[in-house]
Amino acid sequence: MKKKSQTYKKFYTFAPQFFTYINHLNHIFMKLLLISNSTNYKEPYLSWCMPLLEEFLQKTAKKIVFIPYAGVDVGGKVYPESYDAYTERVQKVFKTFGKTIVSVHAAKDPVDLVNHADLIMVGGGNTFHLVAELHRNKLIEPIRRKVMEGTPYIGWSAGSNVACPTLCTTNDMPIVMPESFQCLDLVPFQINPHYIDPYPEEINDRIRHGGETRQVRLNEYLAVNQYKTVAGLREGTALWVENERITLRGTRNMIVLRYGKKPVEKKPGAEFGFDLK
Ligand code: ASP
Repeated sequence: MKKKSQTYKKFYTFAPQFFTYINHLNHIFMKLLLISNSTNYKEPYLSWCMPLLEEFLQKTAKKIVFIPYAGVDVGGKVYPESYDAYTERVQKVFKTFGKTIVSVHAAKDPVDLVNHADLIMVGGGNTFHLVAELHRNKLIEPIRRKVMEGTPYIGWSAGSNVACPTLCTTNDMPIVMPESFQCLDLVPFQINPHYIDPYPEEINDRIRHGGETRQVRLNEYLAVNQYKTVAGLREGTALWVENERITLRGTRNMIVLRYGKKPVEKKPGAEFGFDLK
């Protein structure tokens, strides 16, 4: 009897460590660049993050597989023609790096294309549409597996939100109904892209906006998901994830929100783990 209880004790002591270790192995090869926004106010498309993209893109990454599913209204073209317009737009930018982009929407077998990608890149737009299409094309698991095995991943905006467990911290409208809110779950926290602070009082006195601030909306998410953590990525910032280490890149702070806790600010260049501590 004594022996049995000792075995249980040992199990309960080592099990959490064991699962942490297994979880660690899961992320050991990951390389992600999670960008808040493609375009800074009054600046050209993807220009602010060009140096980051250049640094992140690997010389070996010949075949960049692009996921355009968030783009439902691009350059005057609407879904599904918007996918061509979106891919061309991104292709133009990546030509400067000598890279070609192949889009999943043009592939006969999107899963096969993802399985042979050197790098996976997910563009922004409407997150609900993106997630709906990822599920409809059965791409959630293949992308997740490929990235966990070490294929680099770049996402901006909605593309960064889908690297999280769910889409629940998007700013977008539910224009379609995805099969589920479940996303790629590459990082254990939620990202809110384009995080914006409340307007200063003198501005709000002028515009008299009485709706929820971003922080209020995210606190509502935390009220019913009390063990989750939210990273509010302000414009011009990105998370550089390598294995289990994360660095905040860009020029502004990131805000970390937790239920019942004071928000924490991280400075550009700050390094932290998957718990955002
Ligand atoms: N619509 C944003 C994007 O550009 C995503 C968001 O605001 O949640 O992808």
